[in-house]
Amino acid sequence: MTTQDTIFSKIIRKEIPADIVYEDELALAFRDIHPQAPVHILVIPKKPIPKLADAEPEDHKILGHLLMIVKRVAQEAGLDNGYRVVINTGEDGGQTVYHLHLHILGGRQMAWPPG
Ligand code: AMP
Repeated sequence: MTTQDTIFSKIIRKEIPADIVYEDELALAFRDIHPQAPVHILVIPKKPIPKLADAEPEDHKILGHLLMIVKRVAQEAGLDNGYRVVINTGEDGGQTVYHLHLHILGGRQMAWPPG
């Protein structure tokens, strides 16, 4: 186990189960185990970037790729009326799993400001 090894690394390696809704060679999307909305899906890179603040210039393609997956997965989940995309980053951002992930939240009206 390395310092970069998180629960999401185990999901990528299929060592623990997840409800996977999309996968390609660079990324994975699966349903959040504690959904905060009727639809709550996480999109992650297979590369273990711990948090957005750690992304390097060379990661710009994968970051763009993740957003295109968000669009595709949200469409497939039927979120035609809109949805929210969240990246919690670091301690003040409320991040708990240190493997970069984008939350897709939908199926209800979101509030603003977030907590
Ligand atoms: P964050 O607080 O932004 O780091 O989000 C981490 C998210 O990962 C939370 O919404 C958790 O519910 C979710 N999570 C943790 N473990 C699992 C798991 N094994 N399968 C799916 N989602 C998970």
